[in-house]
Amino acid sequence: MKFATRLVDYDVSPKDPHRPMSTPIYQTATFEQEHADSFGEFDYSRSGNPTRKVLEDQLAALENGTRGFCFSSGMAAISAMTHLLQSGDEILADWDLYGGATRLFAKVLSRSGITIRYVDASTPEKLAEQITPATRILYVESPTNPLLRIIDLAAVANIAHQHGLLFCVDNSAMSPYLQNPLDLGADLVIHSATKFLSGHSDVTGGAIVVKDPALAEKIYFLQNAEGTALGPFDCFLVLRGLKTLKLRLDAQQRSAQTVAEFLSCHPQVSAVHYPGLPSHPLYAVHQRQARGAGAVLSFTVPSFEQAKHIAENTSLFRIAVSFGSVHSTISLPARMSHASTPAELKFSRAIPDSLIRLSLGIEDTDDLIEDLTRTLRLGSPDA
Ligand code: PLP
Repeated sequence: MKFATRLVDYDVSPKDPHRPMSTPIYQTATFEQEHADSFGEFDYSRSGNPTRKVLEDQLAALENGTRGFCFSSGMAAISAMTHLLQSGDEILADWDLYGGATRLFAKVLSRSGITIRYVDASTPEKLAEQITPATRILYVESPTNPLLRIIDLAAVANIAHQHGLLFCVDNSAMSPYLQNPLDLGADLVIHSATKFLSGHSDVTGGAIVVKDPALAEKIYFLQNAEGTALGPFDCFLVLRGLKTLKLRLDAQQRSAQTVAEFLSCHPQVSAVHYPGLPSHPLYAVHQRQARGAGAVLSFTVPSFEQAKHIAENTSLFRIAVSFGSVHSTISLPARMSHASTPAELKFSRAIPDSLIRLSLGIEDTDDLIEDLTRTLRLGSPDA
């Protein structure tokens, strides 16, 4: 079955005699048991809930994994991944990551004696040289956030497996519609379900999908032991959003491509980062490993003041952290989503103050271009 069909054609309520068209919200904390000495399929919602199970199974299917796990946020999912490690272990991560992930690694993980080292994973040959006996996990986003750099996922997966490491990919920017890291050799796929999966800025959620049953058991243990699972109503919202993932993302991606091409020719814009532009340094790698360039892009203008002016004067792009919603958003990552990046990392990575990130929504592309044309004119020093 094609992806659009798989998004809607699945068992939305297994074993349900009423055969509902949408998954019921099992808003219950506990389930009555038939016997005092054995449990049925569900007993307590922290451990398992029918609404959550439908979502987890659907995400596992869409990512070509065997099991999925939903968490209260993308950060809770990332945090669960780190709990596979113990004191003395190390994560080797690409340096361009969501700021909340770098904050977790720097300020929380360090307390458990787990170290994190940042490398440039876009050159896999150099990545291999950085692996030490303490390294346990290679961790990347592709495209990265907010510079839209591309990591060759199959190449990094090879390196990880040659060294007996787990390879974890945050696939939030692509969604399973555009990229399936497990097929390229990743061991864990993470999502902020807050982004494209739900798509409407109305829920915070996260997910991990894996293929290996032994790894799945470890993640399940953590989800249950730490009590970080997504609640039933939020699962319902993600399930509802997920059905239109392809429709939304097709429209969003079309606008992103048009906007990226428009910005590339604009005199106020010095660099456009978007893997749908053939000028992107790793365009060919992205074409090989993904089925589209997505709906997030970033670009730089000459100064922070201009970037701020542009962000504050668009009428259709709302200033907001996050991405992947039906509404177009604009942000200045250095001051917003990545403000929590530890200072030592910020210094070494090239996220200029004048970088603007756009997430394209489902508005009409002509309206978005018109809005940007007007705003960039206002942002010009000659205006
Ligand atoms: N991963 C990426 C790439 C993100 O951009 C974000 C949040 O913006 C997260 C993970 C964290 O997700 P959440 O905000 O759902 O905790």
